[in-house]
Amino acid sequence: MPTGRFTHQHKEYFNAIDGAYTSMTAEEVRKGTFNVKGIIKEMAVENGIASALDRNVEACEFNISDKVTGFKENRITLIFKLSKPEPRLEMSIYFNLSAGVPADKLTGGNVWFIYIKANDTTPWIGIMTREEWFNVAGEADSEFTVDLLSKVSKKKITKEDLIDEKEFFIEIDDIIQGFDDYLTEPFEYSGKPKVKEEPRIIGTRKAYKRDEKTSIRALRKAVHKCEVDKTHKSFIRKSKNIPYMEPHHLIPIENQDDFENSLDVEENIVSLCSNCHNHLHYGRDTDDVLERLYNERIKYLHAAGIDISVDDLFDLYR
Ligand SMILES: [Zn+2]
Ligand SMILES: [Zn+2]
Repeated sequence: MPTGRFTHQHKEYFNAIDGAYTSMTAEEVRKGTFNVKGIIKEMAVENGIASALDRNVEACEFNISDKVTGFKENRITLIFKLSKPEPRLEMSIYFNLSAGVPADKLTGGNVWFIYIKANDTTPWIGIMTREEWFNVAGEADSEFTVDLLSKVSKKKITKEDLIDEKEFFIEIDDIIQGFDDYLTEPFEYSGKPKVKEEPRIIGTRKAYKRDEKTSIRALRKAVHKCEVDKTHKSFIRKSKNIPYMEPHHLIPIENQDDFENSLDVEENIVSLCSNCHNHLHYGRDTDDVLERLYNERIKYLHAAGIDISVDDLFDLYR
């Protein structure tokens, strides 16, 4: 997912002194609200575009980039919204048709960007396809190189992963049996990223540790129900008087290399009945199930510093 501050190629192309860009996800397009990534927010704040950060809503006028086509007007007013909870100061921006954004620009995967020109107080905004954006920066754009590489390196979910997980379920069951604390201590999502651990090298492969207590907390947060559908039937554990559910990392932990922050966090662990869990590892037509789980979790994942588009998530399970 390309996100970054303008390189000198971008600045030259747009005749800008500063700028930042990110791609839009299909989910954002559907909702009409776009997450303003930290790097864009910083750029906006540093350059005084988002000066009234303590106000909840700020309409901001932009010039339309002279390098993009399809917009009817050359100015546009968009809303920046500062969303809760504090203290993250997360920001969203609303691109919508009524404000004059052409429909064909609103496509998942397209890149949107904001930049500043010298001696000009109105910021500039534009949207391009990935290909157009790639052409602006050329192959020297390291952000893109990384992005393309990570696409290739994405590790698909496998049946073998489930075998690893099953061993892990035994350890979880032992802990549930031995300690009541994990079942009763209060728990809320931390709302912030967790530092990822170094992998262990086993033979030629990297293995990332899963923490049992983290998974148990995730099961408890789901009240030991299946998060695909709360009515799914399970059975009572032998070890404790609670329904049996299986923790599953929505973004499989094998993909940790592609993510800056830990994937072994409660926000990324869903509670599943055995049937739904096997479906995700062995079955076809998993998109609907994944989309449901994704929609429930996206804001918590984002808070934990984990960003993935729903299409990229589908991809991991195909
Ligand atoms: Zn699993
Ligand atoms: Zn289920």
